[in-house]
Amino acid sequence: MHELLSSRSSEHYADVLHRTVDVLAARFRDTDRVFSGASREQLQALVDDVDLDGRPLGTDDALREVDELFVEHAVWFHHPDYAAHLNCPVAVPAVAAEAVLAAVNPSVDTYDQSTVGTLMERALVAWTARRIGFPHGDGIFTSGGTQSNLQALLLAREAALAGTTDRDGAMRRLVVLTTASSHFSVQKSALLLGLAADAVVPVPTDALGRMRADALAGALGAVAAVGRVPMVVVATAGTTDRGCLDPLAAIADACDAAGVWLHVDAAYGCGLLVSPTRRHLLDGIERARSVTVDFHKSFFQPVSSSALVVREPQDLQPVAWHADYLNPEDSDEPNQVDKSLQTTRRFDALKLWTTLRALGADRVGELFDDVLDLAARAEELVRDDDDLVLVGGTQLSTVLFRYQPVGLSDEHADRVVPLVRRVLLESGRAVVAKTVVDGRPCLKLTLLNPGSTVDDVARVLGLVRDAAAALVEGDDLADRGAEADEVAAVAAVAGAVAR
Ligand SMILES: *Cc1c(COP(=O)(O)O)cnc(C)c1O
Repeated sequence: MHELLSSRSSEHYADVLHRTVDVLAARFRDTDRVFSGASREQLQALVDDVDLDGRPLGTDDALREVDELFVEHAVWFHHPDYAAHLNCPVAVPAVAAEAVLAAVNPSVDTYDQSTVGTLMERALVAWTARRIGFPHGDGIFTSGGTQSNLQALLLAREAALAGTTDRDGAMRRLVVLTTASSHFSVQKSALLLGLAADAVVPVPTDALGRMRADALAGALGAVAAVGRVPMVVVATAGTTDRGCLDPLAAIADACDAAGVWLHVDAAYGCGLLVSPTRRHLLDGIERARSVTVDFHKSFFQPVSSSALVVREPQDLQPVAWHADYLNPEDSDEPNQVDKSLQTTRRFDALKLWTTLRALGADRVGELFDDVLDLAARAEELVRDDDDLVLVGGTQLSTVLFRYQPVGLSDEHADRVVPLVRRVLLESGRAVVAKTVVDGRPCLKLTLLNPGSTVDDVARVLGLVRDAAAALVEGDDLADRGAEADEVAAVAAVAGAVAR
């Protein structure tokens, strides 16, 4: 039996993997565009062409198809013209560790499925907890910040309901306080956890979208005054759009005074835990009761790699369920499934483990520092550009801006801004993001590539300017609205930008 990885197929495995890596390495060496620029219609046709019930191709041809279909049209997050979302280039030792994981294929649910892997994950969670400032903290690796936030809110809900006799009645009164800038997974978690439809209460923010601690104190009082119960305050250490941090220490003061669970969502800002120069931005995080960290954002780890960390180990208790076939109540083995929402679970910790052993935490922090420095320079470029207007200002590495040369109306600029993103994607020349801030659409660069230079950012901004100018000039969008016209305009300008 050759198909499955075993002692008998080890040479075949080595041969297939070596050749696969060689083909990929050539792609990394030779690909000079962030995206092929293929249209969705073209990509759909390529997918539709494949008959999943057709004659099997054999491993070599199947992998050739993967290379031509998927790798050829993948978005290259490590390319300097990629500046859209919170995706980082990945550390090479972590990629190697991912290959180890894929082959050994452990599951870190019970000790007897993972043995030393469980002990390594626990050591890495303890390391992360110490970096946060939880000397005896605990936690678990998760699939991402969304799952980490869900679990944090579940634990906070159970803490709030502890000892109640009327669970349903108590649940209807629970409230989650957070800002409009927090991640949407907070709202989604509230829904999944069965909280009331109006459970998420927005706390007022400052001009950069950061929670106002004085307003939080007021909101906590107002919630209690109407007979509702604050279940958790979710502070964000690195908002997804603006890259800003809520004032953690002042928020912790308000939470302590009211006896409320503080969850810090540091999915984006967790890289500051290892920053040689900016760790102080997280001051106060050690007063949280739970923290979300996304290593796949600011620790240069491959997707997925995230963790939920708690200050008090017993806070994880509510997710422990016992099954005779897996983790019986009387088991004296360390079963990670007792701390997780998942059962079968990837040993993602191995990737960060390998990275820390290979590069060291300081080096990872320096790389994150580099992108924060780059963002500061990028903001200067936007400020100095007559056609671009900086929106807000970042504490991490996002740059928000609008294309708005003198003479272009707000409404016209509103229509052009989102089209620019599509033009650049379809041209294959650059990938930027768009969002809405204070009701107005704007473009967003998320800089997470320490290899990118100021010149790279300037080139992307130049492409934005060219695309926007061509959109404004090529057709007076102010007079048009029809989607078909927009699609045609985008395609025409994308064609021009691609050249
Ligand atoms: C990205 C992000 C999340 C969600 O994390 P995933 O890993 O994408 O699930 C949560 N919170 C913040 C602040 C984020 O930026």
